Amino acid sequence: MLVYRKRLECHPITTAESNGASNIHWGKLVKIITLGTSHGDPTHSRFNSATVFEVDQHLYLIDAGAPVNALMIRNKLPLQNLKAVFITHLHEDHVGGLSGLIKSLVKYPAADQHTTFLLPEEAAIGALLGWMGAMHREWNPQLLSFGVTTPGPTYQDGKINVTAIPTAHYENEKKPFPSYAYRVTAGAKKFLHTGDLKWDFSDFPQEARHEAFDACICECTHFDVRIVQNILKKCNVKRMIFNHVGNQWHGDGEKRFLDIVSELPFPCAIAHDGEGFEI
Ligand SMILES: [Zn+2]
Ligand SMILES: [Zn+2]
Repeated sequence: MLVYRKRLECHPITTAESNGASNIHWGKLVKIITLGTSHGDPTHSRFNSATVFEVDQHLYLIDAGAPVNALMIRNKLPLQNLKAVFITHLHEDHVGGLSGLIKSLVKYPAADQHTTFLLPEEAAIGALLGWMGAMHREWNPQLLSFGVTTPGPTYQDGKINVTAIPTAHYENEKKPFPSYAYRVTAGAKKFLHTGDLKWDFSDFPQEARHEAFDACICECTHFDVRIVQNILKKCNVKRMIFNHVGNQWHGDGEKRFLDIVSELPFPCAIAHDGEGFEI
């Protein structure tokens, strides 16, 4: 059951704002649903990272932690409407649900169904397809396509435009692998999803300081939230939604976290599994 938080003030798109490519008009909203909100491990109350957003009945995922297919079904999100999946990086808590998601997508396909998967490393595509093959799962190739995320504009389909912003998450392990934040634009709405970040917060996307965003979905596990306030307070966002929630911020810790960020000049929330936010 989705619980939508109070909608933020939104303004209708004017002719000048609309580039004609989007079907979003006059006050239509982007719905963001935080399906899984835990840190690197599932906990008693949170599954691994998966955020779905809905634009004009088209669904998109950012990250696919397990059990993302089950969480979409539980939240009554029709899998055949899933148009694209954007992976921030290849840690298991962000991709562990991919095989189940693909199984659910191809087992009961609808007419004209198609889902694009964008993964940050080429080798992951072959490995994923190999794993699906090992489970003897086959499908009509028209159902799915796979590509590699590249920095900059990486996806557009007439409903949304997605830009990949490189982050430095793997520097936490002194490894060179790519990781990305995503900027999503849908009509006049725009939000930022940070993905996982570096321990010192130095890779927090500068775009959040220079552009206006209706929301920022920011992880809150890999850095000390008490010492990044100076960076966060310069963000030009209408709302901050913290996900990838560490154990210390579960339960009673949630109030302590919200006290820490209460000085920021915009409303902040800690996301829970299955919670919806409208922007
Ligand atoms: Zn993670
Ligand atoms: Zn990670």
